[in-house]
Amino acid sequence: MLDQIKGLHHVTSLASDPTVNNAFFTKTLGLRRVKKTVNFDAPDVYHLYYGDTVGTPGSVMTYFPFPQMAAGRPGTGEVGTTVFAVPEGALGYWKERLSGLNVDGLAEDEAFGERRLHFAGPDGDGFALVEAPGDTRKAWSDGGVGDDEAIRGFHSASFRLRDDGATAELLKFMGYTEVDRGDGVVRLALENGNGADVIDLETMPNISHAGQGAGSVHHIAFAVENREKQLEVRKALADTGYQVTPVIDRDYFWAIYFRSPGGVLFEVATNEPGFDRDEDTAHLGEALKLPVQHAHLREALEDHLQPLTA
Ligand code: ZN
Repeated sequence: MLDQIKGLHHVTSLASDPTVNNAFFTKTLGLRRVKKTVNFDAPDVYHLYYGDTVGTPGSVMTYFPFPQMAAGRPGTGEVGTTVFAVPEGALGYWKERLSGLNVDGLAEDEAFGERRLHFAGPDGDGFALVEAPGDTRKAWSDGGVGDDEAIRGFHSASFRLRDDGATAELLKFMGYTEVDRGDGVVRLALENGNGADVIDLETMPNISHAGQGAGSVHHIAFAVENREKQLEVRKALADTGYQVTPVIDRDYFWAIYFRSPGGVLFEVATNEPGFDRDEDTAHLGEALKLPVQHAHLREALEDHLQPLTA
């Protein structure tokens, strides 16, 4: 069993309109845009990163907005719900705030003894907020949401699977242990993680495979401290038979990718070097940042990409 994985690093989803996406995460949810760059593999679309003050791993929701993209079709083999942690007692505030801003899909329930508020993102993305007592992570303080309510980072992600067996085995190999189960959901968690420590596996044997589109999670990334730990994880996965990509430089972290047995695309990303490697912390996410391989496209991209109003 591996011990290098420290929780979630980021969750990356697909979106349609970048302006609407940006407004939702910065204004409605009060996260900080910590990077405005392009999809390194398709530079004519943005890659937008939202998180806490510096984009601490475990807090970072990222998007590839393709302006005309059709909505995804929810199903199995994907991350169904991405869950953010908020302080104890904050759900009432969020219910009122999100309802006042006409956010779709509001529904309250309780799971594993935690109060939860579900809501939909601008493209129907599945989200929830959970009250997480004892979460000591610091929130972004300038997002228009008070410190008693602001999002701390991810709490968990919930996968929808035809069968959870092989994915549970993989997560256990990655360092997770089963901590609870109920209602067709198995809960796995990491000890000594970064706060974004929980994965729920929901079994839905009769639901067809998801079709990716706007509002779908594209991949989920797990955090390792540095490149050395990443290579250890890469070797262990490859030795177990997983087809893992080479290490790819994503400017703000190094990444490896592989497909998990239930269909969800996994990434393992380093905590180094971080989002402040090419921008002052005070101005994170403001300027369009391009990786060196796409720097020559700046003029065309600045002309082509929809301006973000905030
Ligand atoms: Zn990623």
